[in-house]
Amino acid sequence: MTILHRPETLDEICMLLEELDDAQVYGGGTAIEILRKQGVLFTDDLIDAGRIPELRVLEVSPEGVRVGAMVSVRRMETDPAIRRVVPLASRTYGKVANPRVRNTATVGGNVAHGDYRLDPPTALMVLDATVEVRSAQGARTIAVRDFFTGFQETALEHDEVITALTVPAQPAHSAGRFVKMSSLGENDWPSASTAALLTVADGRRTLRLGLGALAPVPVYLALDISGMTAERAVSEAVAAAEPLMDPIPDIRGSSDYKRRLGLVAVREAVSSVCEEFTHG
Ligand SMILES: Cc1cc2nc3c(=O)[nH]c(=O)nc-3n(C[C@H](O)[C@H](O)[C@H](O)COP(=O)(O)OP(=O)(O)OC[C@H]3O[C@@H](n4cnc5c(N)ncnc54)[C@H](O)[C@@H]3O)c2cc1C
Repeated sequence: MTILHRPETLDEICMLLEELDDAQVYGGGTAIEILRKQGVLFTDDLIDAGRIPELRVLEVSPEGVRVGAMVSVRRMETDPAIRRVVPLASRTYGKVANPRVRNTATVGGNVAHGDYRLDPPTALMVLDATVEVRSAQGARTIAVRDFFTGFQETALEHDEVITALTVPAQPAHSAGRFVKMSSLGENDWPSASTAALLTVADGRRTLRLGLGALAPVPVYLALDISGMTAERAVSEAVAAAEPLMDPIPDIRGSSDYKRRLGLVAVREAVSSVCEEFTHG
């Protein structure tokens, strides 16, 4: 029989995670419920994180956004201040599944889910976002780029809870774009996705890319495209991204099909940020 624990403080969550062997934190439940129905998630103890005020904080400043783990994906999409400070992240959260899932899913549960196809991590990686975690032993911060460690695996230890995500403000001289290719329907998981961020600082142009669904973990890469035409930047980005793609075949397409979609996504995202920068 499953026990739903309902702690009132973060310390209580940490204590439960330390004491119980296979307890799972319950965020929005959108992934947990499906995995339990499919019979692939077994646990006797679920820890509802919904009653902890610290996990619902939302701090927005010109430097960036710090958002509690229990804030909904929908809030990331729709909050005007978040949209203003981290527009690429906000737009990417807006592409997760459908409004029903986005209303229930949380930012902490999203990254903790650890799926290689998740949309938000692509943008979070290019924006230098970090994940704050806590256990009975203390707190630590993990870069989103280092968070996904293997197929369905993350850097989160079994006794750790995600408390917040910090996303630095999108730089003033920058352009961002998220491209998602879904083969089964607009609201479905992607077969390939790309977040691109082009920044200009000290006369140098830097292109950062986050690839989703194209390898067993989200993939990050950065290129110096100073002095390149848009056409050259696109071909350099494609040449750099292709060897990092190792898509997993499934009902959404073969590995080859997904790689081709991935290359289209990279081309589209990079040409879009180059164009926006030229004409913006
Ligand atoms: C129909 C459907 C379509 C989807 N399509 C997409 C899509 O297109 N793109 C996309 O990116 N995602 C998609 N998703 C996945 C969705 O993003 C995740 O289900 C959701 O983000 C998980 O968040 P949650 O809060 O519901 O997590 P939960 O289901 O509550 O938990 C998921 C995992 O995270 C752990 N967890 C939760 N909160 C914490 C915490 N604070 N600290 C530590 N661990 C925690 C849980 O123990 C569990 O292991 C889809 C989901 C569904 C159901």
